[in-house]
Amino acid sequence: MDTDATGREGGVSQNLPRLVDPFERTIDYLRVSVTDRCDFRCVYCMSEHMTFLPKKELLTLEELDRLCSTFVSLGVKKLRITGGEPLVRREIMTFFEAMGRHLQTGALKELTLTTNGSQLRRFAKPLADVGVRRVNVSLDTLDEKKFADVTRWGRLAQVLDGIDAAQEAGLGVKINAVALKGFNDDEIHKMVEWCGARSMDLTFIEVMPMGELGEEEDRLDQYLSLKQVRAQLEQRWTLTDIPYRSGGPARYVEVAETGRMIGFITPLTHNFCESCNRVRLTCTGTLFMCLGQEDAADLRAPLRASQDDAGVIEAVRKAIARKPKGHDFDYSRREIQGQMSRHMSHTGG
Ligand code: SAM
Ligand code: SF4
Repeated sequence: MDTDATGREGGVSQNLPRLVDPFERTIDYLRVSVTDRCDFRCVYCMSEHMTFLPKKELLTLEELDRLCSTFVSLGVKKLRITGGEPLVRREIMTFFEAMGRHLQTGALKELTLTTNGSQLRRFAKPLADVGVRRVNVSLDTLDEKKFADVTRWGRLAQVLDGIDAAQEAGLGVKINAVALKGFNDDEIHKMVEWCGARSMDLTFIEVMPMGELGEEEDRLDQYLSLKQVRAQLEQRWTLTDIPYRSGGPARYVEVAETGRMIGFITPLTHNFCESCNRVRLTCTGTLFMCLGQEDAADLRAPLRASQDDAGVIEAVRKAIARKPKGHDFDYSRREIQGQMSRHMSHTGG
């Protein structure tokens, strides 16, 4: 096995105690936003004229590598790369290649990403080559005009071609669709059918009130409960609850007619915090311990302060020791006062 200049095998220190929070949850899943930029402007995610972060605020690819490798050395087994749109970050394959080496050593079990699919034609094969096995592609509608409306800048044909490329490269594809009232509620059967025919799982996500998008996009107006979505689906499909768990706020059913899974991510109406195994790192090196709370830890300062990882490791451990028991994000109770001021594209969805 390779040993680097710091004596770490494959760039990962060995035998460090794992990350366990005060509620005995082992933290082994890290979601990393590698950029706040995107080639789309989805109405529920960004305003059309977003101001992006200055470059010096962003972690460099080398810093991302160092930080993610530190998390792997602390027992993180799954890394999900997100954004913004991760595949628009320049030279992003350098970072994926760096993470691929942790797959090779076995320290990391899964390297995956969430993408809008626009760049998959170019990147699917290289991603598969470094060890990525599955991707989540966000796609809210199969209608070209509606797709252009919801993404503002996206083209459906390009994303469908990206999905083809991913499947040609042997990647498993799961589709993520944000459920939006009056927008895609009439398409849910079509999406289940389409995903089934293409051997893809499908997850519906409840829209969350994140960031400030301007008055024209009031997300409480867009809110469609997944209870309604499920009830609608049951009129046509045979759904069976299955115990599959990802540790996150999703519950899954199997569709008898297609043999595929449908997930329901309901962060607003349900708390599944007791099994939460994840933390989120923003593209500026801020660690959020809970999607629904503002408490965060700055990892960029200790990272930049020293080439030695001891300071970062200490900051990570202190942060995990503050991971809250549950989030405070139930809009059936808190309504709009609970709105998070940060954008999904910053924290990573
Ligand atoms: N650009 C990539 C993409 O769209 O898949 C990755 C980042 S995006 C922020 C990650 C996920 O967050 C996407 O599935 C997107 O639909 C979802 N998302 C963004 N804003 C949201 C919101 N306000 N409520 C619920 N989901 C949201
Ligand atoms: Fe971009 Fe993804 Fe946000 Fe859409 S949801 S604007 S694709 S980051």
